[in-house]
Amino acid sequence: MSQPEAVSVEVLRQYCRTLSMTTAAQVVDQALDLARREEWPLEAFLHHLLTQELAGRRARRIARLTKEAHLPVGKTLSTFDQKRLPLRVRRQLPQLCRGELIDRADNLLLFGLPGTGKTHFAAALGYEWIADNRSVLFAPTYQLVGRLLRAKRDYALERELHRLDYFQVVILDDIGYVQQSREEMEVLFTFLAERYERRSVVITSNLVFSQWDQIFKDPLTTAAAIDRVVHHSVIVEFGSEMSSYRAEEATKRNRRRGAQDEVTAG
Ligand code: ADP
Ligand code: MG
Repeated sequence: MSQPEAVSVEVLRQYCRTLSMTTAAQVVDQALDLARREEWPLEAFLHHLLTQELAGRRARRIARLTKEAHLPVGKTLSTFDQKRLPLRVRRQLPQLCRGELIDRADNLLLFGLPGTGKTHFAAALGYEWIADNRSVLFAPTYQLVGRLLRAKRDYALERELHRLDYFQVVILDDIGYVQQSREEMEVLFTFLAERYERRSVVITSNLVFSQWDQIFKDPLTTAAAIDRVVHHSVIVEFGSEMSSYRAEEATKRNRRRGAQDEVTAG
């Protein structure tokens, strides 16, 4: 085989750009210099260049996911005092951070009195999941409901739900906050039903399940909504003894539901 002609770095850079290898295009000069200086074997040079490109891609992707997620700024795990978490939750934390629940399309429900760190904790997990290459959307519930409602009025609810489907996790912050009109609660219910068993939802709430009729108004819709979010879910309780006690009831119900499923499945 004949010797290939000498190529200019400019051509290499252009090829990198054409192939959308943005970082490689930026560093190919330096990489060549370094490889020549250090007398690297060809494999080492290629490995170096591709490693840089992969790292650049990862950084760009994380930056994009972070921008899209609208997580509250600074509410990360590093600013979260884990000692204030209930022991049981602290033990669960590494597993929650790994995000296997998202791969299973399970839900995460964070209950507790106002100010006990639910929102911060949900956001912190969001940042962890993004670092692990997952798409997350954080939204105060009233905001998401507003968005769905506007879509519905424009006959575009389907499309909006589809757009939200892009996110592997939607963090619905403060589900009890909105005192919905019937229409509002309907779109919220549709959203939850739509994601059921396909995509994860994280919900923070000051209201235990027994108070969810304040959200969904009629008992049937309330029961149906609870059913969908609880089935395949992890429930975490924050804060005082009182709230722990009430959430414990929800947890028990959750476990019973799980046991029932095993029986049904078996
Ligand atoms: P909730 O959503 O339960 O009402 P927040 O997450 O909004 O509570 O917490 C209230 C404030 O206290 C926030 O500024 C939050 O960052 C802070 N906070 C709560 N728990 C912790 C914690 N364990 N470590 C650090 N800051 C916390
Ligand atoms: Mg909150």
